[in-house]
Amino acid sequence: MRIVMLGPPGAGKGTQAKRVSVKLNLPHLSTGELLREAVSNNTSLGRKAKSYMSRGELVPDSIILNMVEKEIDKYEEKGGFILDGFPRNVAQAKKLDGYLEKKSEALEMVINIDVDEETAVKRLTGRLVCPNCGKLYHATNAPSDGACKGCGTELRKREDDNEKTIRNRLEVYFDETHPLIEYYREKGILRNISGKGSPDEIFQKILILIAQIKVKKS
Ligand code: AMP
Repeated sequence: MRIVMLGPPGAGKGTQAKRVSVKLNLPHLSTGELLREAVSNNTSLGRKAKSYMSRGELVPDSIILNMVEKEIDKYEEKGGFILDGFPRNVAQAKKLDGYLEKKSEALEMVINIDVDEETAVKRLTGRLVCPNCGKLYHATNAPSDGACKGCGTELRKREDDNEKTIRNRLEVYFDETHPLIEYYREKGILRNISGKGSPDEIFQKILILIAQIKVKKS
């Protein structure tokens, strides 16, 4: 199964992609997570990406595409993937189509989670993340001791989750990523869901959409 999660920063793509990945045993590829790992390990990729990320701009396609192609090859052996944070512009989407075509494969569904800008800003300014297991929290419901419920590691704020960078990330989203909605609508694989509601409610809606892929296949 090959699925892309689309939506503005703060839509909940990462949270939902992780849940789908566990539920369906489908590899989850988050370009943002791969890049943050590279930055924290101070690799040459991380050093190249760091300044773009801290400004909330897109890392150049040449860097991203090289990284993603290698990952996708690994995941194909495991029955597909759920992509989160990639593609981020039409050029990346076309490259992805090209990789898959070479293997006589294609994306099956693009799930677009829609939230308004102010909801996104509120979610991101309060977001806390466990640097060890990646579990996400919001300041309003995080454990009072500031430690992850799953592994006990101290929760942190992402460096790019400050209001100035968040506003820039949203602007970049509208300029560069939003056109993908039309790109995938024209291909007939776009499904839209509202990002309002609890993570559980949104997850249930996503599972219903994914069940449609299974029905089509059988
Ligand atoms: P995310 O975790 O998806 O919010 O991504 C965090 C940051 O990583 C973004 O603001 C970009 O700077 C960079 N990034 C992640 N994915 C991509 C991508 N597909 N293309 C370019 N930059 C990306």
